[in-house]
Amino acid sequence: EYPVYGRIDGPIVMIGFGSIGKGTWPLIERHFDYDADKFVVIEPDEANHNFLRQHRLRYVTDELTPTNYRDVLGRLFERGKGFCVNLSVDTSSLDIMRFCREMGVPYIDTVVEPWAGYYFDTMDNEARTNYALRQAVRDEKAANPGGTTAVSCCGANPGMVSWFVKDALQMLARDTGRDPRAPDSREGWAKLMQELGVKGVHIAERDTQARRRPRPRDVFVNTWSVEGFIAEGFQPAELGWGTHETWFPENGHRQTTGCQAAIWLERPGAITRVHTWCPTPGPQFGFLVTHNEAVSISDYYTVGSGADPEYRPTCHYAYHPCDDAVLSLHEMFGSGVQQKVHEILDVDEIEAGGIDELGVLLYGHEKNALWYGSRLSNEETKDLAPYQNATGLQVTSAVLAGMVWAIENPEAGIVETDEMDHARCLEVQRPYLGPVEGHYTDWTPLVNRWEHFPEDIDESDPWQFRNVLAT
Ligand code: NAD
Repeated sequence: EYPVYGRIDGPIVMIGFGSIGKGTWPLIERHFDYDADKFVVIEPDEANHNFLRQHRLRYVTDELTPTNYRDVLGRLFERGKGFCVNLSVDTSSLDIMRFCREMGVPYIDTVVEPWAGYYFDTMDNEARTNYALRQAVRDEKAANPGGTTAVSCCGANPGMVSWFVKDALQMLARDTGRDPRAPDSREGWAKLMQELGVKGVHIAERDTQARRRPRPRDVFVNTWSVEGFIAEGFQPAELGWGTHETWFPENGHRQTTGCQAAIWLERPGAITRVHTWCPTPGPQFGFLVTHNEAVSISDYYTVGSGADPEYRPTCHYAYHPCDDAVLSLHEMFGSGVQQKVHEILDVDEIEAGGIDELGVLLYGHEKNALWYGSRLSNEETKDLAPYQNATGLQVTSAVLAGMVWAIENPEAGIVETDEMDHARCLEVQRPYLGPVEGHYTDWTPLVNRWEHFPEDIDESDPWQFRNVLAT
């Protein structure tokens, strides 16, 4: 009943078996032909070993480090075969990707992750940006073009949302009487976005998943990796910086090397609020948490280059995580102490009605704003795939799509999701996304404000970042 997308000869090495690894495994099992005894998981956390044993999955318990990763992976890989699926925290995506390509092993991850310690032990905020992490991968691509495919940042976001941007652009083109066909080059896509008058893109997400039991104090509750969320939440807020912006934040910093598509703020992303919009809540606050796609999308859709191009969209994440995560952040930043107990909401404890609504809000064009994305409910997720909630399935199905694309394009070199065939990837992923819908809205950041308090905003141009940023 499920399509099998191809055969993977040799070892499939999955690094990390947390919420995303556990949900990706059944999709790999369902959609690829491979030798089951060649599937091996690297999982240092004992808490996950029982599940692995119960499901008769081979695993090794090594914690990958800068000193052992070549040995551990070298023992598991076969040259020119298999697949490396990196779904861990605290391992360097760049180092592992480089080693995989040396070995001719296709590779995929969902984030440009650094080795353990990097996020908190690095004092220089600029070095802690996703811009710096991404640029290192882009530099590796430029220095070593082509070769074995390594897909960088192919989860829900970063990942799937880049495919949604392209679908949304085609929808907008169609609805404004233009040619809706997909351009065949990066330049073509950038020109299309420019011609459509898109000023920017929010990665606009509302997660309404909740359980009956109230969040206990001193516990960080989330719907995916708590460790991953805390790490990115403490990175500086960061955004792709568009050419329509006339104002510059006082605590903002420009980049001076690399693609220069983004800026960063001297403030943690998870306490930087922005005004945004999703179909279920309508207007809402989101957190400007740094994400790879904020940089990659602004970079991909640039007409021209460098710090002063002809056209570039603003792009950033505007994330309203599940309510328990909002409370967890409030407690953590208020106390200055990270909670030691971490909980990820389990698919079976989430109350009916919870959804993860994740899409892209393309704004500033002649139809004002278009939200396009997945509105996957936890209830529907239960029918679609095991061992994950709605948030997880949006990520794991993107990993599946990325793996299919990599197998179909084995010598594509290092790629980001913006550079992949979005139609093919969404074709593979869509059965797992619940309703995928486009919604136009006449909302702008200038409406629904609090008229009793004067604000430092620009009423002449609703979509300025100055109006989006909440003070
Ligand atoms: P998790 O915290 O549930 O699991 C992380 C896993 O990494 C654990 O199994 C842990 O044991 C393992 N790990 C930790 N240190 C390791 C090491 N040194 N060597 C090998 N394994 C190690 O996280 P998750 O929710 O499964 O997320 C996994 C990754 O996916 C994270 O990097 C997260 O940021 C990323 N992610 C991306 C998206 C996206 O949409 N792009 C969404 C969710 C998660």
